[in-house]
Amino acid sequence: MDFQQSENQLMIAKMIQDFGEKEMKPKMMEWDESQEFPIPLFHKLGELGLMGVLVPHEYGGAGFGYHEYMTAIVELSKIDGSIGLSMAAHNSLCTGHILQFGNEEQKQKYLPLLASGKWIGAWGLTEPNTGSDAGNMKTVAKLDGDHYVLNGAKNFITHGKSGNVAVVIARTGETGDSHGMTAFIVERGTEGFKAGRKENKLGMRASETTEMIFEDCRVHKDNVLGNVGDGFVQSLKILDGGRISIASLALGIAEGALNAAIQYSKERHQFNQPISKFQGISFKLSEMATKVEAARLLIQRTADMKNKGLKINKESAMAKLYASEISVEVANDAVQMFGGYGYTKDYPVEKFYRDAKLCTIGEGTSEIQKLVISRAILE
Ligand SMILES: Cc1cc2nc3c(=O)[nH]c(=O)nc-3n(C[C@H](O)[C@H](O)[C@H](O)COP(=O)(O)OP(=O)(O)OC[C@H]3O[C@@H](n4cnc5c(N)ncnc54)[C@H](O)[C@@H]3O)c2cc1C
Repeated sequence: MDFQQSENQLMIAKMIQDFGEKEMKPKMMEWDESQEFPIPLFHKLGELGLMGVLVPHEYGGAGFGYHEYMTAIVELSKIDGSIGLSMAAHNSLCTGHILQFGNEEQKQKYLPLLASGKWIGAWGLTEPNTGSDAGNMKTVAKLDGDHYVLNGAKNFITHGKSGNVAVVIARTGETGDSHGMTAFIVERGTEGFKAGRKENKLGMRASETTEMIFEDCRVHKDNVLGNVGDGFVQSLKILDGGRISIASLALGIAEGALNAAIQYSKERHQFNQPISKFQGISFKLSEMATKVEAARLLIQRTADMKNKGLKINKESAMAKLYASEISVEVANDAVQMFGGYGYTKDYPVEKFYRDAKLCTIGEGTSEIQKLVISRAILE
């Protein structure tokens, strides 16, 4: 595998850096303060091809592979993790599920809308009482003529209110049966489908996180993704790929925090010298930089395997576990290096610190990644 960035990756990175300077940096703290999910920004990301990075050209996407996808998320998250998270959830989860398991008609109908950013996608697996243990979900879908009738609630759903369409996993069989769940495409505006409470979060505040409620929501059986009963198994596959994106999100946040810390350490003077001259600071920066590069390598390896169609269950869990844990550590060290200023909103590191924590929780906590890894190595 080639560790050099390809021309496409360099082009994507430059494009996002320019876009970020103009469209994100001037407003991101405002979005963060007010928890505004900036929908028009996502329409613009769509125009740049970033809302359908992995979607083939024939369905209106950019047709790239996982290396380019990783670059896009890292670069967005170096600026604002919230935007990286929403872009990742849209691409990997909703769009990815339809791309991987949809039939031709479903792909023709939904992928061009999602890949262009005209529509924003949501993906509902988690429920109030079943997060890590998603297989025990309570939301049910009962067949009634040509329709399934959905009842239940999903929580912590990215774009649960603003998403134009959601992929929703619901129980169609017995509790405890991993083949007793099915994935449905549910459009916003479908009767019986509404958004519930919006979460007030520690970080990732510009990424909308909302409850989705289903009350006798009738979904035509044409909207079943793949086979009835396959929804949970499909979801585990979607999460394997999704973990590359959350690992990339974590890497981008860590890199953003590291870059800010390097710059600040050269500018801030104490005891008549830049603080970077203190070995306590320069050694800390060395450790932070090494962790960032180690995370990058784990993600690159997983992206390479995914592009080659190899099984990535263990590798994506390792990449996600390591990148998210070091992201929190690096952001924490960056805040420390900024001293009192690091604790204020005048500098970017407090936001990196708050945003990083989500990465150890979303799309499977660190403990669940260890479960996946231990199962694989003890097999
Ligand atoms: C900002 C945000 C966005 C999200 N977006 C989405 C989305 O778009 N779609 C979606 O479906 N979900 C989404 N989620 C949900 C997310 O995936 C879950 O929060 C996560 O999987 C953890 O589930 P939980 O919160 O119920 O925690 P729990 O499962 O209740 O876990 C509580 C604690 O117990 C630990 N634990 C649980 N089981 C074990 C075990 N077997 N061994 C050891 N420790 C264990 C966990 O690691 C954790 O520390 C989002 C969450 C957040 C915060």
